[in-house]
Amino acid sequence: MSENIRESRSTGKLAQRLARPELLSLEPYQSARRIGGQGDIWINANESPFNNAALSGVKLNGINRYPECQPPELISAYSDYSGVAKECIIAGRGADEAIELLIRTFCTPGKDSIACFGPTYGMYAISAKTFNVGVNALSLTGDYQLPQDIAARIGNTKLVFICNPNNPTGTVIDKASIERVITQLPDTLVVVDEAYIEFCPDYSVADLIDKYDNLVVLRTLSKAFALAGARCGFMLASPSICEMVMRVIAPYPVPLPVSLLATSALSEQGINTMTEQVTSLKACGARLSNALQGYGAKVLPANGNFVLAQFDDISAIQEILLSNGIVARAYGDPRLATCIRFSFSNTDETDFLIKLLAPVTA
Ligand code: PMP
Repeated sequence: MSENIRESRSTGKLAQRLARPELLSLEPYQSARRIGGQGDIWINANESPFNNAALSGVKLNGINRYPECQPPELISAYSDYSGVAKECIIAGRGADEAIELLIRTFCTPGKDSIACFGPTYGMYAISAKTFNVGVNALSLTGDYQLPQDIAARIGNTKLVFICNPNNPTGTVIDKASIERVITQLPDTLVVVDEAYIEFCPDYSVADLIDKYDNLVVLRTLSKAFALAGARCGFMLASPSICEMVMRVIAPYPVPLPVSLLATSALSEQGINTMTEQVTSLKACGARLSNALQGYGAKVLPANGNFVLAQFDDISAIQEILLSNGIVARAYGDPRLATCIRFSFSNTDETDFLIKLLAPVTA
């Protein structure tokens, strides 16, 4: 090993010297897995508590070959499920990959920017920053709606991200308001992130894709379909947007085992299982929201598979959760400093949590 390499290794400076300068101050996304935690009840990542893998009957014939870039059975299954034409669908490694692909396809580093409305999902801003794309971080209104004068505020932003239902607030924006933004911004791509849409399907704007060339919808199998570990998501958009994104996508973005699992999850039986589990999660979530209110928390209307609760004494509830092995999500964002997000879970875990929150009536 040369002296130079030895020196760089010992000080860890080589990567710092070679890295793109904008990465030096970038704080990476604090995913649930990166943060870690200790406990028995994991309700910090809006995952499903159900494991449906046994239902899939997946057989890995053909695993010695590269998969199709866009596996036809998977695209066809998602088209049947979503009602969106096959040529308007791109499958990839989760909605996160779609966010990144859109930024890489449409934004010029050092010149263009994206806009989003906080508090919201952190990956829009982080993905943009990793490509030296600017972030116009706008705020939702006090009741978690889009501001009126969006056109004036976004300037020449290329992509506007709207998360609906919004993570982490759980609130929703009605279809008419989203359609208004799409028509107000004809030269901007309006990206509606519908990661949690199975929990409130009436709010989807996927049916407007035929009508508007500047609309993109993001979907995932990580939430209601209980496949967070598989990494599979979809971008829905006009064929011309899809064609441009396909110039940037990795050669084999959907591993064969993933497309088989995902296609099985999108079968009639898979969709029935998902629908039943969504009903059960929403019922458990409603009971949890009531219990949180009984405990004295302020809760926001929960339209996804999670509820955001605000506490007068955040350290007291954190102590209860920690000492009982419950891993929920807290935030660094000052707007959410007294809030905790609880993902909905199964009956047993919900009952356990509700018991903990019940006032002591000895
Ligand atoms: N969008 C939102 C709003 C999310 O909450 C998440 C995951 N937490 C994602 C996208 C990413 O989903 P995926 O697992 O499909 O990458």
